[in-house]
Amino acid sequence: MTNLINKEIDTLNMPDDKGFFGEYGGSFVPEQLQRVMDDVTTEYEKAAEDPDFIQQLADLNEHYTGRPSPVFYARNLSREIGGAQIYLKREDLNHTGAHKINHCLGEVLLAKRMGKKKVIAETGAGQHGVALATAAALLGLECDIYMGEIDVMKEAPNVSRMKILGAKVIPVKSGTRTLKDAVDAAFKAYLEDPVTQIYCIGSVVGPHPFPMMVRDFQSVIGVEARRQIVSMTGRLPDNVVACVGGGSNAMGIFSAFIDDKDVNLYGVEPAGMGLESGSHAASLTMGSPGLLHGFKTIMIQDDKGQPLPVYSIASGLDYPGTGPQHCFLHDIKRVEYTTITDREAVEAFYALSRMEGIIPALESSHAVAYAVKLAQSLDKDKTILVNLSGRGDKDIDFVMHNYPLVEYEPEENSQNRYKEFLSHIGGRK
Ligand SMILES: *Cc1c(COP(=O)(O)O)cnc(C)c1O
Repeated sequence: MTNLINKEIDTLNMPDDKGFFGEYGGSFVPEQLQRVMDDVTTEYEKAAEDPDFIQQLADLNEHYTGRPSPVFYARNLSREIGGAQIYLKREDLNHTGAHKINHCLGEVLLAKRMGKKKVIAETGAGQHGVALATAAALLGLECDIYMGEIDVMKEAPNVSRMKILGAKVIPVKSGTRTLKDAVDAAFKAYLEDPVTQIYCIGSVVGPHPFPMMVRDFQSVIGVEARRQIVSMTGRLPDNVVACVGGGSNAMGIFSAFIDDKDVNLYGVEPAGMGLESGSHAASLTMGSPGLLHGFKTIMIQDDKGQPLPVYSIASGLDYPGTGPQHCFLHDIKRVEYTTITDREAVEAFYALSRMEGIIPALESSHAVAYAVKLAQSLDKDKTILVNLSGRGDKDIDFVMHNYPLVEYEPEENSQNRYKEFLSHIGGRK
């Protein structure tokens, strides 16, 4: 890659000069912070065209993260479903176990280039915090991580990882004590000192240039996956599926296929306990336009425009808004946004573990569950590329405790040893 920003070829990938994708995005922040955002934009645009910066990032991606991550043909799962063929982009194999390291290395490299001493961020599942703490340790910057108190309890191993890596973890006790409140707290801290520190946003959200910049850093997923699946199957995939929290892993893979009109793109939002229950975080499916954390989005909100509490079994998907590019792609219908419930995600979590020996993150399990549903409705000659955004080690205790395996395990001597693992998401063709 010679330039992180592909202005010429990506007709749907570029925001306007003010950072708007259609009517979404932009930058709605206090004046003092706007000056800082302008600095970040200027410096990023220089970095994105600087061969040294691009080479440094490419070296880290290869030698530190272990890129390219493979694409794996999920033969057993595909055979069991009896429909389309499922391929997995293995972001779970990255150093630190998820896609987030891709943008953290980029953000911390940029922070260094700008002469910052400290990086700060929010985290939900702890994945962004761990990835940022990792990049900060490697590149020698201080790191403060804001995390909702509930998530601190739920994701204890990631809290320990961050501390071991030298980051300071600051529990946030306000509101629902989850991701949204952590973002609020991190923004507040940033406002107090926007000079020596820089806020490294954990997804394609927040004020311009973050949605574009984080997307560019994540686009390595799509660039690789496109080449890999073409070499494996001889053509582009028919469908690409990714889970959507803020939307960074999805934009990372979608960006490479966005101009290929024959490739169907699916973003999977968390339906939690069911859309009708009110306990979900399906922002695009159930939300309306509004302002959140310095950008215009489609969000779950009350009649005063305040974000409402949202919920998903997957902490990383637990956010009331979505990245502006997703909102735009939603409105122009280039991407279809669908939902998967907690229970369906857990079933996919167990199914992929048992059938392929891959334990997916609960976030990624949403994408796998939707791919299973989609595969059933398609013929065997169709393909589905799933972005497996992360590994499930962080979730195993929580799942075993709350969704005991005995409920899914087939009967002894059962004709089909996998039957129960797919019962809710639709069995087979
Ligand atoms: C954080 C996280 C997500 C959700 O974030 P996006 O910005 O929507 O990609 C998905 N999967 C994993 C494994 C995560 O850690």
